[in-house]
Amino acid sequence: MVGADAILSGFTEVATLSRGPIPRRGVAMEDLARIEKGAIALSGETIAWVGKTSQLRRVVRLRKGGSRWEFPGGVAVPGLVDAHTHLVFAGDRSGEVRRKLRGESYLDIARRGGGLLGTVRATRAASEMALFKEALARLKRMVRWGTTAIEAKSGYGLRLDTELRMLRVVRKLSGATRATIVPTFLGGHAVPPEFAGRPGKYVRDVVDRQIPAVARQGIARFCDVFCEPGFFSPEQSRRILMAGMAAGLGAKIHAEEFVHSGGARVAADLHAVSADHLLAATADDRERLAASGVTAVLLPTTPFASLAGTRSPGREFVDTGVSVALGSDLSPNSWEEAMPLVMAHAVYSGRLTPSEALTAATVNSAHAIGLTGGGRIVPGGRADVACFDVPSVEHLGYRLSPPMPSAVFLGGVPEVRDPSMLELSLSRQRVR
Ligand code: ZN
Repeated sequence: MVGADAILSGFTEVATLSRGPIPRRGVAMEDLARIEKGAIALSGETIAWVGKTSQLRRVVRLRKGGSRWEFPGGVAVPGLVDAHTHLVFAGDRSGEVRRKLRGESYLDIARRGGGLLGTVRATRAASEMALFKEALARLKRMVRWGTTAIEAKSGYGLRLDTELRMLRVVRKLSGATRATIVPTFLGGHAVPPEFAGRPGKYVRDVVDRQIPAVARQGIARFCDVFCEPGFFSPEQSRRILMAGMAAGLGAKIHAEEFVHSGGARVAADLHAVSADHLLAATADDRERLAASGVTAVLLPTTPFASLAGTRSPGREFVDTGVSVALGSDLSPNSWEEAMPLVMAHAVYSGRLTPSEALTAATVNSAHAIGLTGGGRIVPGGRADVACFDVPSVEHLGYRLSPPMPSAVFLGGVPEVRDPSMLELSLSRQRVR
């Protein structure tokens, strides 16, 4: 018998994502390894068992004091994984919506000292505690939408002290919640005003000063760079990522977001863990990323929020055999916290099937942030599970108004923060 501290049962289906290579590519992205009429048993922070509800009695024993949760007519999926966020920032950019509507592009606004540089000013001026509180509130809302693991970048400091402050906030958030947070150093997000017109000098600051200090403190897992005209060239991006890799940081890159500039090629050459955005990627870029095993992290709500008039080319990437993951790109430019909405955009704009979108938002996103093997419901895996009150898992991605989970288990602990959800969940709890 398998001992359990919590039993979740009554699901119409459980999408386990337990089968197949990691990360998934091509047709393998359709295979959710579903269990109809499924149940899940949790033991401490891990998944002890997953199978048919009809087998529960024979296989699983609920320990004394354990809890039993019934989800009649609902579904369970692995906790969603958000592979690209700028979680930590101060202020907002609500005032830029009108400018975007008048036709100013992201790059126009940035060139005039707004956009990202406005957020840099606000973030530099904010205390560590203020940054922590704001980010924690956002993180809690993300969990409420079913997200259990995220990547979080620095990049609004653009000087050593503030970059480290942001990364300390990320570390503190890890200690303050049960969500898994993977920190990324993004000192190469933009050239700060004090280095205006001297990008080469700033690259040297990132390479010679910032990366060594970040690596010494063991405070980041990845190094990222914004490769785009007006930000960093492919050659500068390559220098920053190679310095990061030499210091033990995995490589990620913001590539081909607005124009085709060569960032995807840098990612392929360096065998980066991921290349992100990729709106302007070419067929040749896709082939290179597929051949070098780089995961494409697509952020389909960002072109929507940027009023860029473009779509995230999900279908093209899946059909080329690139492993595709998803992220919210949560930032003051595209303030998006709900992964089920990202999945809907991946379907209707990126043209993924709902099953492909779920694979991208779980097992593949986990791989893209160094949590390889996560994003699945498998015995021995971390007990991160999102339970939705929808008739099939296809409703994630299908519904434009994103379903909100009825319960989210984070490392085996139910996080039920919304009062209406609390009522819903308690009314469903039936102790036998
Ligand atoms: Zn980004």
